[in-house]
Amino acid sequence: MPTKYDVAVIGAGIVGLAHAWMAVRRGLSVLVVDRTSVAQGASVRNFGMIWPIGQPAGELYSTALRSRELWLELARENAVDLAECGSIHLAHRDDELAVLQEFCDQGTHAADMITADQVQQLSPLANLTELRGGMLSRTEARVDPRKASAGIARWLSEQHDVTFQFDTAVCQVSAGSISASDGQSWQAERIIVCGGSDLQTLFPQQLQQAGLKLCKLQMLSTPAQQQLQPDSPHIASGLTLRHYTSFEACPGHQQLRQRIASETPELDRFGIHVMASVMPDRRVILGDSHVYDNEVTPFDSIEINELILRELRKIIQLHNWNISEQWHGLYAKHPQLPVVEAEVEPGVHICTGTGGAGMTMSFGLADRIWNRWAGEC
Ligand SMILES: Cc1cc2nc3c(=O)[nH]c(=O)nc-3n(C[C@H](O)[C@H](O)[C@H](O)COP(=O)(O)OP(=O)(O)OC[C@H]3O[C@@H](n4cnc5c(N)ncnc54)[C@H](O)[C@@H]3O)c2cc1C
Repeated sequence: MPTKYDVAVIGAGIVGLAHAWMAVRRGLSVLVVDRTSVAQGASVRNFGMIWPIGQPAGELYSTALRSRELWLELARENAVDLAECGSIHLAHRDDELAVLQEFCDQGTHAADMITADQVQQLSPLANLTELRGGMLSRTEARVDPRKASAGIARWLSEQHDVTFQFDTAVCQVSAGSISASDGQSWQAERIIVCGGSDLQTLFPQQLQQAGLKLCKLQMLSTPAQQQLQPDSPHIASGLTLRHYTSFEACPGHQQLRQRIASETPELDRFGIHVMASVMPDRRVILGDSHVYDNEVTPFDSIEINELILRELRKIIQLHNWNISEQWHGLYAKHPQLPVVEAEVEPGVHICTGTGGAGMTMSFGLADRIWNRWAGEC
């Protein structure tokens, strides 16, 4: 195994893989180092939703759509299994329907209002009781998060000669060199640290000063549900309208937010909105909640899981509501930026903080960053 590379990436989550891919697209030799034997961070713990509809109009939405194109390229290369499933935001209340209508009227995203009957035809998941209608967007896609990162790593290794060094914790990085805790070391002209929610090990002061927040999310999964198709559209709820910034420009957004806060303050306390995503093996991934910084503990709250399920029962129907798995994930997030990227030493970059949109945005963001670097040369 060589010890010198053009590019070294620390972290084999989706952000690290995106940078590794952008580097090999430019003909560079690449090493990826991760402390675990397979990726185990946020990139395997999510819904597997590629979710452009959550990005506000303008550069972020375009970046998400560029990312989506790159995901489709990976699917054509058989690196990942991807369904172009689209998404439906369900409206079970009049104010939710009104915000969705306002959003569609803006014409900024490829989304259309649909009636309750159309929802029924498109989604076996939707709970039709009190359903007012919904919004269909065709830009969303689904990957299986437990397989996607491993599949991309395998493809990068087999098709593009990327070297993966798993089970290896990097303890020091300085301009041009990387040292692991087991004594191994490598040299690289450009080093990109994509450590996800690990804000302590490498460049902790810079990460701290960047204003990143840590967020913990609780998630659930059902057993396989044979009546569901793996390309069923993702489902989001009226609660979701207060989670993604894309809806903030709608005139009725603030009032909707206030109504939810006064009716169900417990949902705001735990940052709960609800979504459902059908996996290729027909399990349904359900979630989620958001608690930040000092409130992050290793212990999962039964109360939060029960609230998530209470809200999900209002918007979806399942033949089998048994829960087969529950887990939590952590991500780093910047309050305003889609990612924190900074050169901390000559040729050494930190890149993290994709928050709840890393699966959606990482390829597009990495593409943008590498185009910028090319312009700087
Ligand atoms: C529950 C949950 C649901 C989500 N749902 C979605 C979704 O549906 N759609 C979406 O777009 N986004 C979603 N997200 C966000 C998305 O998953 C994250 O933004 C993204 O996965 C972050 O990727 P990452 O590579 O930065 O981090 P990670 O996936 O955590 O990877 C970081 C890697 O760095 C390694 N590492 C760290 N430090 C070192 C070191 N010193 N030496 C060696 N290795 C190191 C770790 O082992 C890890 O493998 C969700 C996140 C969570 C937690």
